[in-house]
Amino acid sequence: MKILNPANGSVVAEVEADTSSSVASAYERARAAQAAWARTPLSERLAAVKRFRALVVARRADLALTLTREMGKPIEQAYNELNALPGRLDFFLAHTADVLAEETVFTQPDGALDEVISQEPLGVVANVSAWNYPWFVGSNVFVPALLTGNAVLYKPSEHATMTGQRIGELFHEAGVPKDVFVTLVGGGDVGAAVVEQPVDGVFFTGSYATGRRIAERVAPRMIRLQLELGGKDPTYVTDDVDAAAAAAGLADGAMYNGGQSCCSVERIYVHRAVEDAFVRAFVDTVKGFKIGDPEDKSTYIGPLARREQLDVLDEQVKDATSKGARLLTGGRRAARPGSYYEPTVLAGATNDMRVMREESFGPIIGIASVGSDEEAVTLMNDSEYGLTAGVYSRDRSRAERVLGRVHAGTVYVNACDRVSPRLPWTGRKHSGMGSTLSTYGIRTFLQPKAWHKKLV
Ligand code: NAD
Repeated sequence: MKILNPANGSVVAEVEADTSSSVASAYERARAAQAAWARTPLSERLAAVKRFRALVVARRADLALTLTREMGKPIEQAYNELNALPGRLDFFLAHTADVLAEETVFTQPDGALDEVISQEPLGVVANVSAWNYPWFVGSNVFVPALLTGNAVLYKPSEHATMTGQRIGELFHEAGVPKDVFVTLVGGGDVGAAVVEQPVDGVFFTGSYATGRRIAERVAPRMIRLQLELGGKDPTYVTDDVDAAAAAAGLADGAMYNGGQSCCSVERIYVHRAVEDAFVRAFVDTVKGFKIGDPEDKSTYIGPLARREQLDVLDEQVKDATSKGARLLTGGRRAARPGSYYEPTVLAGATNDMRVMREESFGPIIGIASVGSDEEAVTLMNDSEYGLTAGVYSRDRSRAERVLGRVHAGTVYVNACDRVSPRLPWTGRKHSGMGSTLSTYGIRTFLQPKAWHKKLV
Protein backbone atom coordinates (compact mmCIF):
# COMPACT_ATOMS: atom_id res chain seq x y z
CA MET A 1 0.00 0.00 0.00
CA LYS A 2 1.41 3.40 -1.02
CA ILE A 3 1.23 6.27 1.47
CA LEU A 4 0.95 9.57 -0.39
CA ASN A 5 1.70 13.04 0.94
CA PRO A 6 -1.47 15.08 0.27
CA ALA A 7 0.61 18.28 0.10
CA ASN A 8 2.33 17.23 -3.11
CA GLY A 9 1.29 13.69 -4.09
CA SER A 10 4.76 12.22 -3.43
CA VAL A 11 5.11 8.69 -2.06
CA VAL A 12 6.02 8.90 1.64
CA ALA A 13 6.29 5.14 2.16
CA GLU A 14 5.15 1.77 0.92
CA VAL A 15 3.80 -0.63 3.50
CA GLU A 16 2.57 -4.20 3.47
CA ALA A 17 -1.22 -4.29 3.83
CA ASP A 18 -2.93 -6.99 5.87
CA THR A 19 -5.09 -9.65 4.25
CA SER A 20 -8.18 -11.44 5.46
CA SER A 21 -6.01 -14.37 6.56
CA SER A 22 -3.49 -12.21 8.45
CA VAL A 23 -6.41 -10.45 10.16
CA ALA A 24 -7.90 -13.81 11.17
CA SER A 25 -4.60 -15.00 12.61
CA ALA A 26 -4.13 -11.71 14.50
CA TYR A 27 -7.58 -12.28 15.99
CA GLU A 28 -6.64 -15.84 17.08
CA ARG A 29 -3.48 -14.57 18.76
CA ALA A 30 -5.34 -11.72 20.47
CA ARG A 31 -8.00 -14.14 21.73
CA ALA A 32 -5.33 -16.43 23.16
CA ALA A 33 -3.48 -13.54 24.83
CA GLN A 34 -6.42 -11.64 26.30
CA ALA A 35 -7.12 -13.70 29.43
CA ALA A 36 -3.56 -13.31 30.72
CA TRP A 37 -3.71 -9.55 30.07
CA ALA A 38 -6.98 -9.33 32.01
CA ARG A 39 -5.32 -11.21 34.92
CA THR A 40 -2.28 -8.89 34.85
CA PRO A 41 -2.59 -6.63 37.91
CA LEU A 42 -4.11 -3.25 37.10
CA SER A 43 -0.96 -1.58 38.45
CA GLU A 44 1.05 -3.23 35.65
CA ARG A 45 -1.44 -2.24 32.96
CA LEU A 46 -1.38 1.33 34.29
CA ALA A 47 2.43 1.29 34.31
CA ALA A 48 2.50 0.19 30.66
CA VAL A 49 0.23 3.07 29.61
CA LYS A 50 2.37 5.48 31.66
CA ARG A 51 5.45 4.28 29.75
CA PHE A 52 3.53 4.69 26.47
CA ARG A 53 2.70 8.26 27.55
CA ALA A 54 6.38 8.99 28.25
CA LEU A 55 7.45 7.57 24.88
CA VAL A 56 4.91 9.73 23.04
CA VAL A 57 6.18 12.83 24.85
CA ALA A 58 9.82 11.95 24.15
CA ARG A 59 9.29 11.23 20.44
CA ARG A 60 6.66 13.82 19.62
CA ALA A 61 8.77 15.69 17.05
CA ASP A 62 9.10 12.59 14.91
CA LEU A 63 5.48 11.57 15.52
CA ALA A 64 4.17 15.01 14.57
CA LEU A 65 6.13 15.00 11.31
CA THR A 66 4.89 11.51 10.46
CA LEU A 67 1.29 12.65 10.92
CA THR A 68 1.83 15.81 8.89
CA ARG A 69 3.43 13.92 6.00
CA GLU A 70 0.76 11.25 5.72
CA MET A 71 -2.39 13.30 6.27
CA GLY A 72 -1.43 16.93 5.68
CA LYS A 73 -2.18 18.32 9.15
CA PRO A 74 -0.21 21.56 9.62
CA ILE A 75 2.78 20.76 11.81
CA GLU A 76 1.78 23.12 14.63
CA GLN A 77 -1.62 21.43 14.78
CA ALA A 78 0.04 18.00 14.79
CA TYR A 79 2.06 19.20 17.81
CA ASN A 80 -1.12 20.51 19.44
CA GLU A 81 -2.69 17.06 19.13
CA LEU A 82 0.35 15.32 20.59
CA ASN A 83 0.79 17.92 23.35
CA ALA A 84 -2.83 17.50 24.46
CA LEU A 85 -2.68 13.70 24.42
CA PRO A 86 -1.02 13.24 27.85
CA GLY A 87 -3.96 15.06 29.49
CA ARG A 88 -6.36 12.51 28.05
CA LEU A 89 -4.18 9.60 29.08
CA ASP A 90 -3.93 11.06 32.59
CA PHE A 91 -7.71 11.05 32.90
CA PHE A 92 -7.87 7.34 32.08
CA LEU A 93 -4.90 6.59 34.32
CA ALA A 94 -6.59 8.39 37.23
CA HIS A 95 -10.08 6.93 36.90
CA THR A 96 -9.82 3.34 35.71
CA ALA A 97 -9.32 1.86 39.20
CA ASP A 98 -12.53 3.47 40.49
CA VAL A 99 -14.57 2.24 37.54
CA LEU A 100 -13.19 -1.29 37.91
CA ALA A 101 -13.81 -1.42 41.66
CA GLU A 102 -16.14 -4.10 42.91
CA GLU A 103 -19.22 -2.62 44.60
CA THR A 104 -21.28 -4.18 47.39
CA VAL A 105 -24.72 -2.70 46.84
CA PHE A 106 -26.59 -4.58 49.57
CA THR A 107 -25.79 -6.55 52.73
CA GLN A 108 -28.61 -8.17 54.63
CA PRO A 109 -28.63 -6.97 58.28
CA ASP A 110 -28.01 -10.54 59.56
CA GLY A 111 -25.10 -10.91 57.13
CA ALA A 112 -26.70 -13.87 55.32
CA LEU A 113 -26.75 -12.20 51.88
CA ASP A 114 -24.45 -9.90 49.94
CA GLU A 115 -25.24 -8.40 46.54
CA VAL A 116 -22.15 -7.33 44.66
CA ILE A 117 -21.39 -5.92 41.21
CA SER A 118 -18.04 -6.75 39.64
CA GLN A 119 -16.68 -5.62 36.27
CA GLU A 120 -15.18 -7.82 33.56
CA PRO A 121 -13.54 -6.78 30.30
CA LEU A 122 -15.46 -7.44 27.09
CA GLY A 123 -12.61 -9.61 25.73
CA VAL A 124 -11.19 -8.86 22.28
CA VAL A 125 -12.38 -5.59 20.76
CA ALA A 126 -12.03 -4.19 17.25
CA ASN A 127 -11.19 -0.52 16.83
CA VAL A 128 -11.62 0.77 13.26
CA SER A 129 -10.57 4.39 13.26
CA ALA A 130 -10.43 7.71 11.38
CA TRP A 131 -7.48 9.79 10.20
CA ASN A 132 -8.36 13.34 11.22
CA TYR A 133 -7.14 13.10 14.84
CA PRO A 134 -5.66 9.61 14.95
CA TRP A 135 -3.97 10.11 18.34
CA PHE A 136 -7.11 11.48 19.98
CA VAL A 137 -9.83 9.28 18.51
CA GLY A 138 -7.63 6.19 18.72
CA SER A 139 -6.65 6.79 22.34
CA ASN A 140 -10.27 7.40 23.33
CA VAL A 141 -10.81 3.74 22.50
CA PHE A 142 -7.67 1.69 22.82
CA VAL A 143 -6.33 3.23 26.04
CA PRO A 144 -9.37 2.51 28.26
CA ALA A 145 -9.85 -0.78 26.41
CA LEU A 146 -6.33 -1.89 27.35
CA LEU A 147 -6.50 -0.53 30.90
CA THR A 148 -9.67 -2.49 31.57
CA GLY A 149 -8.10 -5.76 30.37
CA ASN A 150 -9.24 -6.07 26.76
CA ALA A 151 -7.11 -7.06 23.77
CA VAL A 152 -7.39 -4.64 20.84
CA LEU A 153 -7.33 -5.15 17.08
CA TYR A 154 -6.63 -1.61 15.86
CA LYS A 155 -7.23 -0.70 12.23
CA PRO A 156 -6.09 2.88 11.70
CA SER A 157 -7.36 4.77 8.69
CA GLU A 158 -5.46 4.22 5.46
CA HIS A 159 -4.69 7.99 5.70
CA ALA A 160 -2.98 7.57 9.09
CA THR A 161 -1.30 4.19 8.64
CA MET A 162 2.20 5.12 9.73
CA THR A 163 0.83 6.82 12.84
CA GLY A 164 -1.10 3.63 13.59
CA GLN A 165 2.06 1.57 13.19
CA ARG A 166 3.98 3.92 15.51
CA ILE A 167 1.20 3.61 18.11
CA GLY A 168 1.55 -0.18 18.02
CA GLU A 169 5.36 -0.03 18.29
CA LEU A 170 5.19 2.36 21.25
CA PHE A 171 2.70 0.17 23.11
CA HIS A 172 4.92 -2.86 22.61
CA GLU A 173 8.00 -0.95 23.71
CA ALA A 174 6.00 0.17 26.75
CA GLY A 175 5.29 -3.44 27.71
CA VAL A 176 1.87 -4.22 26.24
CA PRO A 177 2.21 -7.76 24.82
CA LYS A 178 2.40 -7.89 21.00
CA ASP A 179 -0.75 -9.96 20.71
CA VAL A 180 -2.75 -7.78 23.10
CA PHE A 181 -2.47 -4.72 20.87
CA VAL A 182 -2.26 -5.43 17.15
CA THR A 183 -2.18 -2.77 14.42
CA LEU A 184 -3.75 -3.99 11.19
CA VAL A 185 -2.92 -2.10 8.02
CA GLY A 186 -5.12 -1.43 5.03
CA GLY A 187 -8.22 0.23 3.67
CA GLY A 188 -11.93 -0.47 4.00
CA ASP A 189 -11.56 -4.13 3.01
CA VAL A 190 -9.21 -4.73 5.95
CA GLY A 191 -11.57 -2.77 8.23
CA ALA A 192 -14.41 -5.04 7.10
CA ALA A 193 -12.27 -8.14 7.75
CA VAL A 194 -11.50 -6.92 11.29
CA VAL A 195 -15.19 -6.35 12.01
CA GLU A 196 -16.01 -9.85 10.71
CA GLN A 197 -13.85 -11.55 13.35
CA PRO A 198 -15.77 -13.04 16.31
CA VAL A 199 -14.78 -10.10 18.52
CA ASP A 200 -16.69 -9.05 21.64
CA GLY A 201 -17.08 -5.40 20.71
CA VAL A 202 -16.70 -3.08 17.74
CA PHE A 203 -15.67 0.52 18.33
CA PHE A 204 -15.76 2.59 15.17
CA THR A 205 -14.85 6.20 14.40
CA GLY A 206 -15.62 7.45 10.91
CA SER A 207 -18.41 8.47 8.59
CA TYR A 208 -22.10 7.75 8.95
CA ALA A 209 -22.05 5.79 5.67
CA THR A 210 -19.40 3.36 6.92
CA GLY A 211 -20.80 3.29 10.45
CA ARG A 212 -24.19 2.27 9.15
CA ARG A 213 -22.66 -0.50 7.03
CA ILE A 214 -20.80 -1.81 10.10
CA ALA A 215 -23.92 -1.55 12.29
CA GLU A 216 -25.89 -3.64 9.79
CA ARG A 217 -23.17 -6.33 9.74
CA VAL A 218 -22.70 -6.43 13.50
CA ALA A 219 -26.36 -6.22 14.64
CA PRO A 220 -27.21 -9.96 14.57
CA ARG A 221 -24.19 -10.76 16.73
CA MET A 222 -25.50 -8.86 19.80
CA ILE A 223 -22.06 -7.55 20.74
CA ARG A 224 -21.20 -4.13 22.04
CA LEU A 225 -21.20 -1.63 19.18
CA GLN A 226 -20.12 1.95 19.53
CA LEU A 227 -20.14 4.44 16.67
CA GLU A 228 -18.56 7.90 16.64
CA LEU A 229 -19.67 9.42 13.38
CA GLY A 230 -19.89 12.69 11.52
CA GLY A 231 -21.61 15.94 12.30
CA LYS A 232 -23.11 19.06 10.79
CA ASP A 233 -22.50 21.11 13.89
CA PRO A 234 -24.41 24.39 14.15
CA THR A 235 -23.65 27.53 16.14
CA TYR A 236 -26.10 30.35 16.82
CA VAL A 237 -24.72 33.86 17.26
CA THR A 238 -27.25 35.97 19.16
CA ASP A 239 -27.80 39.72 18.86
CA ASP A 240 -26.00 40.59 22.13
CA VAL A 241 -22.46 39.48 21.27
CA ASP A 242 -19.18 41.13 20.44
CA ALA A 243 -19.47 40.19 16.77
CA ALA A 244 -15.75 40.40 16.01
CA ALA A 245 -14.76 38.17 18.93
CA ALA A 246 -17.43 35.61 18.07
CA ALA A 247 -16.33 35.65 14.42
CA ALA A 248 -12.68 35.06 15.33
CA GLY A 249 -13.57 32.09 17.56
CA LEU A 250 -15.95 30.56 15.04
CA ALA A 251 -13.65 31.01 12.04
CA ASP A 252 -11.06 28.97 13.91
CA GLY A 253 -13.71 26.41 14.89
CA ALA A 254 -14.75 26.05 11.26
CA MET A 255 -11.30 25.96 9.62
CA TYR A 256 -8.86 24.44 12.14
CA ASN A 257 -7.35 21.21 10.74
CA GLY A 258 -8.79 22.32 7.38
CA GLY A 259 -12.30 21.91 8.80
CA GLN A 260 -11.62 18.18 9.11
CA SER A 261 -12.81 17.73 12.69
CA CYS A 262 -15.90 15.76 13.59
CA CYS A 263 -16.88 18.76 15.76
CA SER A 264 -15.87 21.51 13.32
CA VAL A 265 -18.40 24.31 13.12
CA GLU A 266 -20.28 23.39 9.94
CA ARG A 267 -23.27 25.79 9.99
CA ILE A 268 -23.65 29.27 11.47
CA TYR A 269 -26.96 30.98 12.25
CA VAL A 270 -26.41 34.64 13.04
CA HIS A 271 -29.02 37.05 14.37
CA ARG A 272 -29.91 39.65 11.74
CA ALA A 273 -29.09 42.49 14.14
CA VAL A 274 -25.37 41.59 14.13
CA GLU A 275 -25.13 39.81 10.79
CA ASP A 276 -23.23 42.48 8.84
CA ALA A 277 -20.61 43.07 11.52
CA PHE A 278 -20.24 39.34 12.16
CA VAL A 279 -19.88 38.34 8.52
CA ARG A 280 -17.39 41.14 7.81
CA ALA A 281 -15.21 40.10 10.76
CA PHE A 282 -15.52 36.42 9.84
CA VAL A 283 -14.34 37.00 6.27
CA ASP A 284 -11.47 39.21 7.49
CA THR A 285 -10.31 36.47 9.86
CA VAL A 286 -10.53 33.80 7.17
CA LYS A 287 -8.60 35.92 4.68
CA GLY A 288 -5.79 36.08 7.24
CA PHE A 289 -5.42 32.28 7.41
CA LYS A 290 -2.18 31.21 5.77
CA ILE A 291 -2.46 28.35 3.28
CA GLY A 292 0.77 26.51 2.66
CA ASP A 293 3.16 23.64 3.13
CA PRO A 294 1.98 21.77 6.24
CA GLU A 295 5.60 21.29 7.32
CA ASP A 296 5.96 25.07 7.59
CA LYS A 297 5.24 26.23 11.15
CA SER A 298 3.34 29.31 10.01
CA THR A 299 0.82 27.33 7.92
CA TYR A 300 -2.73 27.31 9.24
CA ILE A 301 -4.53 25.65 6.29
CA GLY A 302 -2.87 22.57 4.80
CA PRO A 303 -4.10 20.20 2.11
CA LEU A 304 -7.18 18.05 2.58
CA ALA A 305 -6.27 14.49 3.55
CA ARG A 306 -8.56 13.02 0.88
CA ARG A 307 -8.36 14.36 -2.64
CA GLU A 308 -11.94 13.21 -3.40
CA GLN A 309 -13.27 15.73 -0.88
CA LEU A 310 -12.33 18.57 -3.26
CA ASP A 311 -15.19 17.44 -5.53
CA VAL A 312 -17.63 17.49 -2.58
CA LEU A 313 -16.63 21.07 -1.74
CA ASP A 314 -16.91 22.20 -5.38
CA GLU A 315 -20.40 20.68 -5.54
CA GLN A 316 -21.47 22.36 -2.30
CA VAL A 317 -20.32 25.76 -3.56
CA LYS A 318 -22.06 25.28 -6.91
CA ASP A 319 -25.28 24.14 -5.26
CA ALA A 320 -25.27 27.00 -2.73
CA THR A 321 -24.57 29.79 -5.22
CA SER A 322 -27.18 28.41 -7.63
CA LYS A 323 -29.72 28.65 -4.78
CA GLY A 324 -28.83 32.23 -3.91
CA ALA A 325 -25.92 32.11 -1.43
CA ARG A 326 -23.26 34.83 -1.72
CA LEU A 327 -19.69 33.56 -2.14
CA LEU A 328 -17.61 36.03 -0.09
CA THR A 329 -14.21 34.38 -0.35
CA GLY A 330 -12.67 31.17 -1.67
CA GLY A 331 -14.94 28.73 -3.46
CA ARG A 332 -12.24 26.99 -5.46
CA ARG A 333 -9.16 24.79 -5.31
CA ALA A 334 -5.99 26.66 -4.43
CA ALA A 335 -3.58 27.22 -7.30
CA ARG A 336 -0.82 24.92 -6.07
CA PRO A 337 0.00 21.21 -6.23
CA GLY A 338 -1.66 18.98 -3.64
CA SER A 339 -5.27 18.73 -2.51
CA TYR A 340 -5.77 22.29 -1.30
CA TYR A 341 -9.05 24.18 -1.10
CA GLU A 342 -9.27 27.89 -0.43
CA PRO A 343 -11.05 28.78 2.83
CA THR A 344 -14.59 29.50 1.70
CA VAL A 345 -17.39 31.59 3.17
CA LEU A 346 -20.95 31.47 1.85
CA ALA A 347 -23.39 34.02 3.32
CA GLY A 348 -27.13 34.06 2.79
CA ALA A 349 -27.17 30.26 3.15
CA THR A 350 -30.43 28.38 3.72
CA ASN A 351 -31.13 24.91 5.08
CA ASP A 352 -32.07 23.52 1.66
CA MET A 353 -28.45 23.89 0.49
CA ARG A 354 -26.06 20.93 0.60
CA VAL A 355 -23.50 23.04 2.47
CA MET A 356 -26.04 23.28 5.33
CA ARG A 357 -27.07 19.60 5.25
CA GLU A 358 -24.13 17.35 4.30
CA GLU A 359 -20.95 17.13 6.32
CA SER A 360 -18.42 19.29 4.42
CA PHE A 361 -15.24 18.18 6.21
CA GLY A 362 -13.29 21.01 4.61
CA PRO A 363 -12.48 24.71 5.04
CA ILE A 364 -15.91 25.94 4.06
CA ILE A 365 -18.81 27.46 5.99
CA GLY A 366 -22.40 28.44 5.29
CA ILE A 367 -23.79 31.38 7.24
CA ALA A 368 -27.55 31.90 7.50
CA SER A 369 -29.39 34.74 9.19
CA VAL A 370 -32.20 34.28 11.72
CA GLY A 371 -34.63 36.64 13.43
CA SER A 372 -35.19 34.95 16.79
CA ASP A 373 -34.00 32.28 19.22
CA GLU A 374 -37.02 30.21 18.25
CA GLU A 375 -36.05 30.21 14.59
CA ALA A 376 -32.45 29.37 15.50
CA VAL A 377 -33.55 26.31 17.52
CA THR A 378 -35.72 25.06 14.66
CA LEU A 379 -32.97 25.44 12.08
CA MET A 380 -30.26 23.96 14.31
CA ASN A 381 -32.40 20.87 14.90
CA ASP A 382 -33.16 20.53 11.20
CA SER A 383 -30.36 18.02 10.58
CA GLU A 384 -29.76 14.29 10.45
CA TYR A 385 -26.78 14.79 12.73
CA GLY A 386 -26.48 15.61 16.44
CA LEU A 387 -22.84 15.76 17.55
CA THR A 388 -22.26 19.29 18.92
CA ALA A 389 -24.00 22.68 18.88
CA GLY A 390 -23.16 26.08 20.31
CA VAL A 391 -24.53 29.49 21.19
CA TYR A 392 -22.55 32.72 21.46
CA SER A 393 -24.27 35.14 23.82
CA ARG A 394 -23.44 37.40 26.76
CA ASP A 395 -26.55 36.03 28.47
CA ARG A 396 -25.69 32.60 29.81
CA SER A 397 -29.25 31.66 30.74
CA ARG A 398 -30.48 32.59 27.26
CA ALA A 399 -27.77 30.38 25.73
CA GLU A 400 -28.68 27.54 28.12
CA ARG A 401 -32.39 27.83 27.25
CA VAL A 402 -31.58 27.50 23.54
CA LEU A 403 -29.09 24.65 23.98
CA GLY A 404 -31.44 22.78 26.29
CA ARG A 405 -33.73 22.36 23.28
CA VAL A 406 -31.04 21.35 20.76
CA HIS A 407 -30.60 17.67 19.92
CA ALA A 408 -26.84 17.20 20.27
CA GLY A 409 -24.59 15.17 22.55
CA THR A 410 -22.31 18.11 23.33
CA VAL A 411 -23.27 21.79 23.67
CA TYR A 412 -21.05 24.84 23.98
CA VAL A 413 -21.69 28.28 25.46
CA ASN A 414 -19.32 30.82 23.85
CA ALA A 415 -17.05 28.02 22.65
CA CYS A 416 -16.80 25.51 19.82
CA ASP A 417 -14.69 22.63 18.47
CA ARG A 418 -13.68 21.54 21.97
CA VAL A 419 -13.34 18.10 23.57
CA SER A 420 -12.66 17.35 27.24
CA PRO A 421 -11.54 13.97 28.65
CA ARG A 422 -13.77 14.63 31.67
CA LEU A 423 -16.99 14.84 29.64
CA PRO A 424 -18.66 12.10 27.60
CA TRP A 425 -18.14 12.38 23.86
CA THR A 426 -21.38 11.15 22.43
CA GLY A 427 -23.30 11.62 19.22
CA ARG A 428 -27.05 11.55 18.69
CA LYS A 429 -28.99 10.65 15.54
CA HIS A 430 -26.58 9.96 12.64
CA SER A 431 -23.65 11.20 14.72
CA GLY A 432 -23.46 7.85 16.43
CA MET A 433 -24.22 5.85 19.54
CA GLY A 434 -22.43 5.25 22.80
CA SER A 435 -19.85 7.42 24.54
CA THR A 436 -16.10 7.66 24.74
CA LEU A 437 -14.19 9.76 27.30
CA SER A 438 -15.29 10.48 30.89
CA THR A 439 -16.06 7.50 33.10
CA TYR A 440 -18.76 6.47 30.57
CA GLY A 441 -15.90 5.95 28.13
CA ILE A 442 -14.15 3.56 30.51
CA ARG A 443 -17.25 1.63 31.55
CA THR A 444 -18.10 0.96 27.91
CA PHE A 445 -15.22 -1.56 27.72
CA LEU A 446 -16.61 -3.54 30.64
CA GLN A 447 -19.55 -5.79 31.33
CA PRO A 448 -21.05 -6.01 34.81
CA LYS A 449 -21.44 -9.30 36.66
CA ALA A 450 -24.16 -9.43 39.34
CA TRP A 451 -23.27 -11.55 42.40
CA HIS A 452 -25.87 -12.94 44.82
CA LYS A 453 -23.85 -14.42 47.70
CA LYS A 454 -25.72 -16.31 50.42
CA LEU A 455 -24.33 -18.08 53.43
CA VAL A 456 -24.87 -21.86 53.24
P1 NAD B 1 -14.51 6.53 6.84
O1 NAD B 1 -15.86 6.10 7.25
O2 NAD B 1 -14.24 6.73 5.39
O3 NAD B 1 -13.41 5.50 7.34
C1 NAD B 1 -13.24 5.21 8.72
C2 NAD B 1 -12.55 3.87 8.85
O4 NAD B 1 -13.41 2.84 8.37
C3 NAD B 1 -11.25 3.75 8.06
O5 NAD B 1 -10.31 3.08 8.86
C4 NAD B 1 -11.66 2.89 6.87
O6 NAD B 1 -10.59 2.16 6.32
C5 NAD B 1 -12.69 1.98 7.49
N1 NAD B 1 -13.67 1.37 6.58
C6 NAD B 1 -14.10 1.80 5.38
N2 NAD B 1 -15.04 0.97 4.88
C7 NAD B 1 -15.22 -0.01 5.80
C8 NAD B 1 -16.07 -1.16 5.89
N3 NAD B 1 -16.93 -1.46 4.93
N4 NAD B 1 -16.00 -1.92 7.00
C9 NAD B 1 -15.15 -1.62 8.01
N5 NAD B 1 -14.32 -0.55 7.96
C10 NAD B 1 -14.35 0.24 6.89
O7 NAD B 1 -14.21 7.88 7.65
P2 NAD B 1 -12.90 8.78 7.62
O8 NAD B 1 -12.82 9.50 6.32
O9 NAD B 1 -11.71 8.01 8.06
O10 NAD B 1 -13.20 9.80 8.78
C11 NAD B 1 -13.97 10.95 8.61
C12 NAD B 1 -15.31 10.79 9.27
O11 NAD B 1 -15.13 10.42 10.63
C13 NAD B 1 -16.10 12.09 9.33
O12 NAD B 1 -17.46 11.82 9.06
C14 NAD B 1 -15.91 12.54 10.76
O13 NAD B 1 -16.92 13.42 11.22
C15 NAD B 1 -15.92 11.25 11.48
N6 NAD B 1 -15.30 11.37 12.79
C16 NAD B 1 -16.09 11.31 13.89
C17 NAD B 1 -15.53 11.45 15.16
C18 NAD B 1 -16.38 11.43 16.39
O14 NAD B 1 -15.81 11.36 17.46
N7 NAD B 1 -17.69 11.46 16.31
C19 NAD B 1 -14.17 11.66 15.28
C20 NAD B 1 -13.37 11.73 14.13
C21 NAD B 1 -13.95 11.57 12.89
